[in-house]
Amino acid sequence: STAAAFDEQPIKPSVQVEHTQLLIDGKFVDAAAGKTFPTLDPRTGEVIAHVAEGHSEDVDRAVAAARKAFDLGPWPKLPAYERQRILLRAADLIEKHNDEIAALETWDNGKPYEQSAQIEIPMLARLFRYYAGWADKIHGLTVPADGQYHVQTLHEPIGVAGQIIPWNFPLLMFAWKVGPALACGNTVVLKTAEQTPLSALYVAKLFHEAGLPPGVLNIVSGFGPTAGAALASHMDVDKLAFTGSTDTGKVVLQLAAKSNLKPVTLELGGKSPFIVCEDADVDEAVELAHFALFFNQGQCCCAGSRTFVHECVYDEFVEKAKARALKRAVGDPFKSGTEQGPQIDSKQFEKILKYIRSGVENGATLETGGERLGSKGFYIQPTVFSNVQDGMLIAKEEIFGPVQSIFKFKDLGEVIQRANNTRYGLAAGVFTKNIDTANTLTRALRVGTVWVNCFDTFDAAIPFGGYKMSGQGREKGEYSLKNYLQVKAVVTPLKNP
Ligand code: ADP
Repeated sequence: STAAAFDEQPIKPSVQVEHTQLLIDGKFVDAAAGKTFPTLDPRTGEVIAHVAEGHSEDVDRAVAAARKAFDLGPWPKLPAYERQRILLRAADLIEKHNDEIAALETWDNGKPYEQSAQIEIPMLARLFRYYAGWADKIHGLTVPADGQYHVQTLHEPIGVAGQIIPWNFPLLMFAWKVGPALACGNTVVLKTAEQTPLSALYVAKLFHEAGLPPGVLNIVSGFGPTAGAALASHMDVDKLAFTGSTDTGKVVLQLAAKSNLKPVTLELGGKSPFIVCEDADVDEAVELAHFALFFNQGQCCCAGSRTFVHECVYDEFVEKAKARALKRAVGDPFKSGTEQGPQIDSKQFEKILKYIRSGVENGATLETGGERLGSKGFYIQPTVFSNVQDGMLIAKEEIFGPVQSIFKFKDLGEVIQRANNTRYGLAAGVFTKNIDTANTLTRALRVGTVWVNCFDTFDAAIPFGGYKMSGQGREKGEYSLKNYLQVKAVVTPLKNP
């Protein structure tokens, strides 16, 4: 792509912004203090819309609505089948409005429209159908006791769930959190990321159209240190779920502990290895490693950001990885065929360029890329470094951008040690045809997901979460229900056994 192409008029999205207020107790309302903040188009840095800015008094109102909807019902006490049907109807409405939702997501986030429309929004509907399926299959046990007792466990919703999500997959993060919470009968206050407030408001409105009672799902737009912190430290929030950076994860965990000890699940950062073994088909390995890093503009917590390549195939791999990056179609995310849109905002854009400069200064070989594209918006060239050493900043810290770092290794023991030598433990990719190599690596890697000969496979039923400082707990799959259920033991003497 030529630089000039990036300075053309951006393609006009085929959707209007309808909802910019807070969604509290089933109604769109202004922030109590009347404040708003702009949400920007990452293609240009220009304002898409001004959105109500929630502060602690708005969080208080939202939590009060969720509290009332939980304590007085009917939501937690509805027959599970009723909850299931509402979630299924919401999924149908999401499907019906697929293209508008996809356009809103792309406009606010910058990800390719084809990715939104063909993968993410269909997956959003799929996730809610998956969780709807659980709603009427949640039950406790009867338990043997020493003595004449009838003992049962009841699996009850926890109460009001506070949820804080990031901007890289606004709606998928919404579904991973709202889905299990609602299926289990909880009520929710969700704070979207300040960069991407629009799509969650649209989708939450659809839930109300589907019959969700007021107060069950409340959406507060706003910033982390104000709205986010108010939610994390709220005395009337019974559970907190957070996805974002490891540093902010530490903050919200402390806020939760200092307030009411609400249990917390965390999905945090990563520095995931992608290991290409000596037996690999190099062309396939290059393509998958490219996808593992560059998908979603490199803005994935599980991005394969350390590409370890066996020395036997290293030179060929580097050459082909560079060629693949040079072919990557960067441009307006609304244009058909675009693989990579702009980064989310100026802060991330500057941070990525800083990491690229540090890679060069530290002596990694810049094979291709390294510069911005165009003169407005937040586009960055697909960038490949080879000859990356473990001690470099780009080898250790999360870049969250389109920057692939390639490392050379000699044997399995060595690559296991180096792959695990990080405070993170979110995911890993393993590329090999040898079953013994695959088994050795999958067991040795201290990460929450190992993708063997695939990457970023995110089905609703597959649990996702981190070892070490990549997080606590699991989302998706049956495991996610545990985050939203309390276990109550009920003990009754048997009078005439
Ligand atoms: P990033 O640096 O990628 O924006 P963050 O972890 O800061 O990642 O943001 C993820 C989410 O956490 C966003 O919704 C953000 O508003 C929120 N957040 C940021 N700081 C705080 C905080 N101090 N307390 C609660 N939430 C926060």
